[in-house]
Amino acid sequence: MAGFTTKAIHTPFLKKDTHGSLRMPVYDTVAFEFDTAEELQTAFLGQKPRHAYSRITNPTIEHLEQKVKNLTDAFAVVAVASGMAAIANVVLSIAGQGDNIITTKHVFGNTYSLFEKTLGPWGLKIRYADFSKPTTIKKLIDSNTRAIFFEAITNPQLEVASIKVLAKIARESKILLIGDTTVTPLYFFSGQDSGVDIEVISATKYISGGATTIGGLIIDNGTYDWRNNPRLKNEARKYGQFTLVTRLKREVARNVGACLSPHNAYLQSLGLETLALRADRSSENALGLAKFLARQPRAVKINYPGLKSSPYYTVARSQFKGNFGALLTFDLSSREACFSFLNKLKLIRRATNINDNKTLAIHPASTIFCEYSPELKTEMGVAETMIRIAVGIEDLEDLTADLKQALEE
Ligand SMILES: *Cc1c(COP(=O)(O)O)cnc(C)c1O
Repeated sequence: MAGFTTKAIHTPFLKKDTHGSLRMPVYDTVAFEFDTAEELQTAFLGQKPRHAYSRITNPTIEHLEQKVKNLTDAFAVVAVASGMAAIANVVLSIAGQGDNIITTKHVFGNTYSLFEKTLGPWGLKIRYADFSKPTTIKKLIDSNTRAIFFEAITNPQLEVASIKVLAKIARESKILLIGDTTVTPLYFFSGQDSGVDIEVISATKYISGGATTIGGLIIDNGTYDWRNNPRLKNEARKYGQFTLVTRLKREVARNVGACLSPHNAYLQSLGLETLALRADRSSENALGLAKFLARQPRAVKINYPGLKSSPYYTVARSQFKGNFGALLTFDLSSREACFSFLNKLKLIRRATNINDNKTLAIHPASTIFCEYSPELKTEMGVAETMIRIAVGIEDLEDLTADLKQALEE
């Protein structure tokens, strides 16, 4: 069987291109024409699926979905407008008023906000466990629990839960396991092999090929028996394994309308072709920078799962095929010291976002988490003294030189 990059480059088109184009063209169009009224009807009934309207399906977007399917052996893949759209569409499809999902406070800031501020008032209950202590998860499960939601490496705390343990708990309780696997891209992490039922990914990050476009992916590994979710029981009888995809394509994703643009799908297909090269290089750089920082007296609490001193080293190594991602954090003495360090950087950019080709630095407490109270920030593991570096693919010596000069008094 072909390797990751070979598959990423050579995934065939579902239909041969009329002009023999080697790259899937950008179908920047809204609607598709039919020869007869009958064909139009069968397309709408789903009896003979064809592209009709680009909010629902489009050849360029379908090709991206096809590539991801080929790379992951997933049951189905649905591309949407952003990582947030992927999470929102999945949760809206599987839960509703009175239901609960179990997660941790150590999740991406906007994900926490989506759950608490946006979906909470619609009647979704969010229960918080400590994923490093699996018994705290079990205690929260009841007959209204619809899913356990985790992040493969939490951002910015960089905690790594044992996904096999989460999968075991989910399976025993017949609950869906949803993983946000953005920072451990498909190249070095297989959700399917680890028992994750549904993966949500911000394609904006690694997959877009260097922060070119916003995008999101929903990967259905085909492992969940949808009859176990009371809300989807009837649909599950009719659609079986296709239950979530049908619900997304014929209802939730269609109606919410957070569709990917064909142009973004084109760039993300292109990004997948170099994903392995960029993921290896940026994680080598991250390890290099973490080791460098460990020797700098002003930088403390160097946090990178690839350092042998990290409490997550062993579990990360076994889960992520020896790759530890490209995010690291460290602490300085105060918020002022953090700001002064950031302001001295010359090559590394002051910006949010991760997995760009460029290395980016940010002070999470005053930016991504600025809307939360000091107490909540502490619960979320976001210290006032913490700097996050999202490592890119530049030459390591240039990055260490920039860190060195910015850390000087
Ligand atoms: C960026 C990010 C998201 C949100 O993705 P967008 O594409 O920006 O909507 C969700 N989860 C994680 C872990 C992220 O890093």
